[in-house]
Order: sequence, then C-alpha cells, then structure tokens
Amino acid sequence: MKTSKRITLLSQYKDSISYFAKCACVANAHDLMIFIEKDDEYNRVNIQFYIDVELNKYFELWNYGHILGKVKHFIDVVWNRIKITFKVLFKGHITLEQDFIIDDEEQLDAFINALNEGRKYVKGE
Ligand SMILES: [Zn+2]
Repeated sequence: MKTSKRITLLSQYKDSISYFAKCACVANAHDLMIFIEKDDEYNRVNIQFYIDVELNKYFELWNYGHILGKVKHFIDVVWNRIKITFKVLFKGHITLEQDFIIDDEEQLDAFINALNEGRKYVKGE
C-alpha cells in the first residue's frame, strides 16, 4: 500500500515504517503521522501517533462583542495558558485533545490497512 484514501506512505526503513494520515475535515492542523517501529528489546511493535495540538480555540475573542468582555476573555486565556505552563513545568504532562476524523468506511479501512501493513513490515512477515 503506497497510498490510499487519505493515507500516504512517508518513510520505510529496516525496522520502521511511517504514514501520513489526513483528517476527513481536511484541516492541515489535524494531520497525523503514524510511526510504526519494531522493538527487539521487548519483542513488540510500537506505534506512535504524532499530531499538533493547539490552544487556539481559547483565543476566540471576536465572540465577546464589548471591549471589556474581550479584555476579560484575553486575561482568562492568558491565565489559562499560565496554569497549563505550570502544570507542564511541575507535573511534566498535560492532557490536550485534537480531532482526527474518519468519516467513511474506505478511510477507516485505509487507516486499519496502514496499521496492519506497518506491523507486518516491521516484523518481517
Ligand atoms: Zn480535522
């Protein structure tokens, strides 16, 4: 499988393979990189998903009409980001979310095929 619906082969090495997956909403911010790697030390296959996550949705200032509402919202946004920063600093992790939409059977099959193909490839099957 070199390419199929919204899934493209990115790289292929001896013990790893990676794919690019496009979200069904076609927003570039939701693109996903799937990295599948053979892990000989633990005799397993590791799958990593790389995706950009964003805090931009908290910056929707135009919804607050009045200038004081915008200022208050801006302060809330900055305060929220400060809290997130401190959580990362002192706890070492945060939980964020990002959408990745699979909107039909063909795209789902392509996604599953990429995972299966990658697993078989790195295991030499
Ligand atoms: Zn999307």
